[in-house]
Amino acid sequence: MVDERDEYYINCEDLFKIYKIADLEVVALRGLDLKVRAGELMAIVGASGSGKSTLLNILAGLDQPSAGRAYVGGRDLLTMGDSEMVEYRRRHVGFVWQQTGRNLIPYLDAVQNVEVPMVLEGTAPRDARERAIELLRAVRMDHRLHNHPNQLSGGEQQRVSIAVALANNPPLLLADEPTGELDSFGADLVYEIFSDLNREFGVTIVIVTHDPEIAARVDRVVAIRDGRTSTEIYRRVEFEAGAPRVYHDEFVLVDAAGRLQIPREMLEHLGISGRARVTSGESSVEVLPEKERQRRDSERR
Ligand code: ADP
Ligand code: MG
Repeated sequence: MVDERDEYYINCEDLFKIYKIADLEVVALRGLDLKVRAGELMAIVGASGSGKSTLLNILAGLDQPSAGRAYVGGRDLLTMGDSEMVEYRRRHVGFVWQQTGRNLIPYLDAVQNVEVPMVLEGTAPRDARERAIELLRAVRMDHRLHNHPNQLSGGEQQRVSIAVALANNPPLLLADEPTGELDSFGADLVYEIFSDLNREFGVTIVIVTHDPEIAARVDRVVAIRDGRTSTEIYRRVEFEAGAPRVYHDEFVLVDAAGRLQIPREMLEHLGISGRARVTSGESSVEVLPEKERQRRDSERR
């Protein structure tokens, strides 16, 4: 039997992260499942505090999960040793932060910033320069090679940051609200670049955002609510009379234990809280407000 884990580049199952501050425990991830295929361009959306950054930091090897399973490229993030973790962060994953200032060194110019991770890895200076210029071209910043971060717009800084994150050619790029501080023009360009990099170099890309427009920009959007993945939206393009039409299909995720999360809007709309009736039909399962069932029963009588 093929191990299902091999099929996915990222495979998280029943993942928990509990932060302890003094006597207080905060459960940031509570049984989260997430699977991402190699070469996917996908986004994670969710309200503030839902656990998006916690998940991304775990995938980046910057934080350790408390329990569950988390594999990236066949590596087990729960049991990885310190030196392996350092190697993982340097070569196997690139990270872009929301705050442009956190991604770049202010006293270095764009090309030098991109060279830094390569120099740390022992790449020869000439090779590092060549690759830095190539990467800056890929993020459409080759006209600004010798500008310092404070001479660039927010969007331009983020594009240089993406080049820095890809310096050592990692197969995975993670970005935590990369457009959070940009205007819509700057954000659009950043999304275009993610799409270019994904298509041209096959980099697997996971973008965390709360931009509702993201669904149009990626193949798949997974929504996180209260530390668990709840729904998923796929983009599907169909050709009708020769013209492409884009559809968005929405699914609720059901985990191995049969748990699912019904979007809050639906619960509120139906007046469901605490418990509900579940009835099983031939090819469907219905979740009904308790009162609705009683009403239907009395109608039948
Ligand atoms: P998001 O990125 O979706 O806004 P986070 O992952 O940052 O959410 O946070 C999820 C929850 O975990 C929040 O309740 C937050 O307060 C808590 N949290 C995040 N990081 C820490 C930390 N280092 N220590 C304690 N609690 C944290
Ligand atoms: Mg966050």
